[in-house]
Amino acid sequence: MKKAIYSLASILLTTPGSVARGALAAPVKLVVSEGFENPIGFYDATPTLSWQLPADGSVKAQTAYHIVAATSAKRLAGKADLWDSGKVESEQSVWIPYAGRTLTSGQSVHWQVKFWDETGRASAWSAPSSFELGLLENSDWKGAWIRMSEKKSILENAAFNLTTGELVGARGKVKAGKFVPEYFRRQFMLRDGVRSARLHVTAKGLYEVYLNGSKVGQDFLAPGWTPYHTRIETLTYDVTDMLQQGENAVGAIVGEGWYAGPMMQKKFVYPAARPMLLIQLEMTLTDGSKALIITDDRWKASNTGPIRYSSLYHGEVYDANREMSGWNQVGFDDAAWAAVIQEDVQPEPLLVPKRHHPVRATEELATVTVTEPEPGRFVFDLGQNMVGWPRLMIPVEKDRQVTVRFAEMLNKNGTLYTANYRAAHSTAYYTPAKTGTTRWHPTFTFFGYRYVELSGLPEGCKPQADWVTGVVLHSAFSPSGRFTSSHGLLNQLQQNITWGQRGNYLDIPTDCPQRDERLGWTGDAQVFGPTSLFNYDVHAFWMSWLQSVREDQKANGLVCHVVPDTGCGQGSPGWGDVAVVSPWDVYVRTGDRGVLEENYVMMKKWTAAYEREAKNFVVNRKGYGDWLVPYGKQTGHDYISTAYFGRCAGIMHQAATVLGEREDATRYAKLQADIRTAVSSKFFDATGKLHKETQTGYLMFLGYDLIEPGLRDRAVENLVKLIDQAGGHLGTGFLGTPLLALVLTEEGHVDLAYQVVFKESYPSWFYSIHQGATTMWERWNSYSHDKGFGNASMNSFNHYAYGAVGQWMYEHVAGLAPDPTNPGYKHFYIRPLPGGPLTSADAELDTLYGKAASGWDRTDKGLVVRAKVPPNTTATFVVPVTGNRPPVVTQSGKAVALKQMNGETVCDLEPGPYEFLVD
Ligand code: BGC
Repeated sequence: MKKAIYSLASILLTTPGSVARGALAAPVKLVVSEGFENPIGFYDATPTLSWQLPADGSVKAQTAYHIVAATSAKRLAGKADLWDSGKVESEQSVWIPYAGRTLTSGQSVHWQVKFWDETGRASAWSAPSSFELGLLENSDWKGAWIRMSEKKSILENAAFNLTTGELVGARGKVKAGKFVPEYFRRQFMLRDGVRSARLHVTAKGLYEVYLNGSKVGQDFLAPGWTPYHTRIETLTYDVTDMLQQGENAVGAIVGEGWYAGPMMQKKFVYPAARPMLLIQLEMTLTDGSKALIITDDRWKASNTGPIRYSSLYHGEVYDANREMSGWNQVGFDDAAWAAVIQEDVQPEPLLVPKRHHPVRATEELATVTVTEPEPGRFVFDLGQNMVGWPRLMIPVEKDRQVTVRFAEMLNKNGTLYTANYRAAHSTAYYTPAKTGTTRWHPTFTFFGYRYVELSGLPEGCKPQADWVTGVVLHSAFSPSGRFTSSHGLLNQLQQNITWGQRGNYLDIPTDCPQRDERLGWTGDAQVFGPTSLFNYDVHAFWMSWLQSVREDQKANGLVCHVVPDTGCGQGSPGWGDVAVVSPWDVYVRTGDRGVLEENYVMMKKWTAAYEREAKNFVVNRKGYGDWLVPYGKQTGHDYISTAYFGRCAGIMHQAATVLGEREDATRYAKLQADIRTAVSSKFFDATGKLHKETQTGYLMFLGYDLIEPGLRDRAVENLVKLIDQAGGHLGTGFLGTPLLALVLTEEGHVDLAYQVVFKESYPSWFYSIHQGATTMWERWNSYSHDKGFGNASMNSFNHYAYGAVGQWMYEHVAGLAPDPTNPGYKHFYIRPLPGGPLTSADAELDTLYGKAASGWDRTDKGLVVRAKVPPNTTATFVVPVTGNRPPVVTQSGKAVALKQMNGETVCDLEPGPYEFLVD
């Protein structure tokens, strides 16, 4: 979403009301709802408002605030015509519900805030901030969906010939798309200059829009992927500067994307899906009059443009001979273009403003090396497995087609290893219109790759590294956390986790970004949730996708294996539990109770499905099990489904408590206790041993608090034995792995947790790094130097699930952990646990209150612990035990007062930076 520009911002700093000299510095970083700064096309007519207190050390806490909101920045000064909260005694500086006049589509709201600190001093007013709503109702859309006539554009049963790049009969399991990208245009006259203009747009498929020849916005693959039968997202752009008095031209290209491509076609969810375009261009002219351009029968269309074919799985075919110079500009002769077919906007699906960041290019990777493993085929290594597309700047020969292939890995002989893409062709074809140098990148597709192979280049050319640049695409959230340590492999693991997250958070959370899958697998998303919320500001991303999860939830409460649902089935324990676990994870890490309010019904329905199936509090529902467990026994379905049933009951108890649903809270607490009793008697013997022992079995029952206190310690001992028997190796799959280090640490086996995570032999995180991993792999041995590639039918080199260990690295190694009872880091823990071969570790996180940090260094003098506590929060420093005697903690040479809490030595921290010496 674009940022608005404020010319008035600076002059309003001291209004409204007078501000005494020497007032506290103003609040900063004003955001609406899930962290949006000055958004336009905003989705939320009942937003929340948040701000940060100055982090200059001048204030500890807020005791009151005052918000004003107005229809213009000017009116804020004394004429706040939307809302004046007055002075509100409250320490809350985040998630304040907007409580002013009702807001409507397109409305812009300007607001500012001041606060009072713990000594009663008032701050200056903040600089004004704003948000502008998008089109909230389907009836706001005045135009119609447009497309070309069926006969002209559908390539029935067409598929992709990998050799020639032509569209021919069906191939393989996955059908190629049926549609040629369509080009649309419309020319119009403005009788005056433009004071302001907003372009609202969406597509059934993917769009690119142009005004007077320039691309509108910086988004790619928009509008993104939602359960399209329920909801299609729309985007809004500030295009004031792209228009002019006189003639103007708007153009658009529409490709099949997710909507009309094989993902949705596979299970025939959208048998009749057909790409279409919807645009509404609203302008206010200099003379104050309004002008409106909408998609209607005044548009013309063509399918003879250069993008011949596009598919998310298969790639793109581009023929530069078909470029239509000036097609999106004034004066282009469109006499040969066809009329469009119109379809009215219906009340359903809902057309709603996109509620998270669109996909953008966020980074460019330069080629590291170029090789020629086969004559005429040049392989460019970007040094990093990534997701996006390449930008080419290459010599070409007229009509000699350049083929661009991709791979995550190379065969021993240096050629591309593509078997693991399965039926995804993942290839781009470019036909040059003239001999010379060309610059090109694909548009309506993306690839998961580290290597790019070019063939079809002019004879005798010598490849240059700058011919290929890797353009990284993902949802444009910003980084929020950083983890680093003294250990190279651990730092590489952190890198691999963050690359895995970026590659797989492309509009929705996917399992993998490269093969013919790329689906919103709920289990993968669920286990990776906490880690995801450390690395990037993905609050909005999660809110959006959780909306899709609940839209796709079945009437019986079951949640789809993949969301958006492509017809893959529903209900797997550990997968569908995303409906309960992830809203809670988001709540704990953001403090946004809105995530619980929005999802509470979904959470209850999923839990109720377990309740209906339970016999004496034990559920035996089949599912994907502890997916991809590397060796040994699989954990029983009854163990897994009962463990998740218990986990859901526990979370529901907490969520109901937060929401004030007292009866529910009591009922779920009892339910969890009953499940705990049932688990203890049904699955364990009297020695705390599971009847069918697996690491995951123990981890789930311990981690989800489902073992009676009397058995717990013995269950821990049995888990430890089991891990020892495995030589200190993990023996866990998708569901057990995220729990492993966390549970061991929480049960006091910090050394074993370090041992398991720092293993370098199979199966372990570092093992795959030694085999060359630059992202997380689907399997611990997706590739090994000894044995080569694993089974290509399931062999992704970019699968973030095992990256869930990141949570342990932040929360326990560096020691920056949220407090579920005081969420969103209003209170948090500094709880470093030095161990293994580490000599230092550091984590920091941009919380809604400001930067929080925890880190440590082993030094000659003792353990140095660094911490940062942002204003308006508090923290508890849990002092690590470094020897046999009680720890002594000093700061700047002075002893720090410590106290005992739950058997630990702690110290309360106010806002500020700290450096302690622990001896
Ligand atoms: C996906 C997984 C997913 C699994 C379900 C696979 O095909 O890639 O990550 O969770 O199916 O078992």
